[in-house]
Amino acid sequence: MGEGETQMKDDLKLLVVGSGGREHAIAKKLLASPHVSQVYCAPGNPGMTVDGIIPVAISELDFPALKGFCYEEEIAWTFVGPENALVAGIVDSFEADGLKIFGPAKTAAQLEGSKDFAMRFMNKYAVPTASFATFSDSASAIAGLAEFSEPVVIKADGLAAGKGVVIAQTKEQAKEEIALMFKKGQKRLVLSEFLSGAEYSLFVAVGRKDYRILPMAQDHKRAFDLDKGLNTGGMGAYSPLPQLPEADYQRMLREVVAPTIAGLRQEEFDYCGILYIGLIMTEQGPKVIEYNVRLGDPETQVVLPRITSDFAELIDCALNGNALPAIEVTAKACLGVVVAASGYPGEYLKGQVLPELKTTDEIKIDYANVSEKAEQFIGNGGRLLCVLALEDDLQLAQAKAYSYLAQHEFTDCYYRHDIGTKATGKFSGIDGELKDL
Ligand code: AMP
Repeated sequence: MGEGETQMKDDLKLLVVGSGGREHAIAKKLLASPHVSQVYCAPGNPGMTVDGIIPVAISELDFPALKGFCYEEEIAWTFVGPENALVAGIVDSFEADGLKIFGPAKTAAQLEGSKDFAMRFMNKYAVPTASFATFSDSASAIAGLAEFSEPVVIKADGLAAGKGVVIAQTKEQAKEEIALMFKKGQKRLVLSEFLSGAEYSLFVAVGRKDYRILPMAQDHKRAFDLDKGLNTGGMGAYSPLPQLPEADYQRMLREVVAPTIAGLRQEEFDYCGILYIGLIMTEQGPKVIEYNVRLGDPETQVVLPRITSDFAELIDCALNGNALPAIEVTAKACLGVVVAASGYPGEYLKGQVLPELKTTDEIKIDYANVSEKAEQFIGNGGRLLCVLALEDDLQLAQAKAYSYLAQHEFTDCYYRHDIGTKATGKFSGIDGELKDL
C-alpha cells in the first residue's frame, strides 16, 4: 500500500450519536465521503433529513438500544457528538461489545466532566492555565475568595452545557453566586483566576498513534450583541481567524497541544476521539480555560465545511490504528449564525413555526432543536438552527449570512448581529446590510 492510501472499505454505514446542529454537520460531512453510503443519527432531528441523514428514535444515553441498532444495521463505526454520552461511558460500553466508536473512554472524558480533574491534569503536565481552587461547601468557597482578585470566575464542577460558569465582577457578587450555586444543589465549585485576552477554540483529532489539528474557529458564547447577556451553548462561529498571528498559533501548538497530548499518552487514557481546547491568548501567552472531549457546537458547523479531504477516512484511520492522513483545508471562510428561541438561555418559547429555509451553493442550514408539524419545522428547544455561509473571505460570508437572515421572518426567535465582527470590524444592521463597528 502506497503512502496516503488506506484500506478503508466502501459502502460504509455509520451512526452519529446526538441531535443538534453539531451532529447535523458531522453526519453531513461523513455522508460526503465516497466510502460512505448511509449515515444514521440517534436521536437526530427532522431537519437532518433535508441532507439525506436518517434520524433514529433512540436516546443518546440508551446504550443497549444503540448497540442493538449497530448490530442490526451492520454499522461500521459510531461517532459520538455530545459530552453527556461520553461522560456516561458510551465508549466503554461499545468497546466491551467489540463495536468501533470514536470518542474517549469514560476516564478520559472526565477532562470535560470535571473541571477539577481537568485543572489537576493541566498542572501535572505543565499545560498553562489559570490558578484555581476547588471547594465542596459554601463557607470555605467564600473564605477562599481571599486568594483571588476581582473579577473572579466561578465554575460548577460537573457538566453544564456551557452555562455553568459565572464571572463575578466583585467579591460581593461572587459571595452571592457561590451561596446560590450551592443552594441550588451544586456539590463542588471551582474558583479560578480571570484571564483576559481573545478566546479561541482549537480542535485536535486524536488517534492512538498520532494526531491532527483541525481548522481553528471562534465561538460567541454570550446571548446578545457585543458579548452582552448570559453565557449560552454558543450563538455563532467563524473560521478561519485572520486576526490570529501565526506566531501565537505556533505557541498554542507548542505550549498547549504538545504537553496535553503527552499527558494523555502518559496517563494511558484510551483516547481515540476529538479533543477541544478552549484557550485565552493572555499577555503571558496561551492559557487553557477548558478541555472538552468532543467537537464544539456551533464551531463544528463552520470548521467541517472548510475541510476538503475525506473526514470519514480520517476517523476510520484513527479507529483502525492507522497513521492519520493530512487534513486538507480550503482558504474559503465559513461563518455561522445561530437562531435561538426567544428567552434562551433562560426559559424560552417553544412551538414557533420556522420560515421555509432554502439552501443554495453558498448558504446551508444545520438544524438543532426542531420538530416537524404539517411539513413545517417548529421550534422545540433553545438553539434551533444555524445559518451558514461559505465564501471567499469572512466579510463576504458575514454579508451573505446576514442578508439571508434578514430576508426571512423569524417569529419568537433571536440571533446576534455581530458574529465575525472581531475579525471583520463589521456588524449587521437589522436590514442585513453590514456596517462599520
Ligand atoms: P467554560 O465552560 O470553562 O468554557 O467557560 C465558559 C466561558 O466562560 C468561556 O468560554 C469563557 O468565555 C469564560 N471563562 C471561563 N474561564 C475563564 C477564565 N479563567 N477567565 C476568563 N473567562 C473565562
